[in-house]
Amino acid sequence: MDRGISGSGLPSAAERLAGLNLRGLESDFYEAAGKGRLVFSRCRDCGRAMFPLRNICLNCGSTAVDLVDSLGRGVVQSISTVSRSPHPAFRSTGPYQVAIVKVDEGFNILSNIDGECTIDQIVEVAFTTDDEGRGVPYFRSSA
Ligand SMILES: [Zn+2]
Repeated sequence: MDRGISGSGLPSAAERLAGLNLRGLESDFYEAAGKGRLVFSRCRDCGRAMFPLRNICLNCGSTAVDLVDSLGRGVVQSISTVSRSPHPAFRSTGPYQVAIVKVDEGFNILSNIDGECTIDQIVEVAFTTDDEGRGVPYFRSSA
């Protein structure tokens, strides 16, 4: 069963992940999200937080990079409304909001927003999951 975001106009995990051949770190990310975890990479040597997930630090080149769980809170940096997606997988969706969220641990993520949000609004992560136990994070206003 797809636990999509009914009534919100947001694409469900099944819609988002349909036809994608997920491998490696990308697969790790969506499997963690299926368990309700928003994960990112953090360098053990310099502390740099990275997203999407990386094996090598973008700052210092270290390969001592850990997969870390985020607390899932952040601030909306920019936001845009998609009225109608040209992508066939998203034909049934919209309008929905897409935002860049600066997550408290120090990385940015491009994500969907459920409900009305504005720049500088504090948001928290939620997840939609597909039949295979994979998840896609999205954000919503933090009460
Ligand atoms: Zn580093």
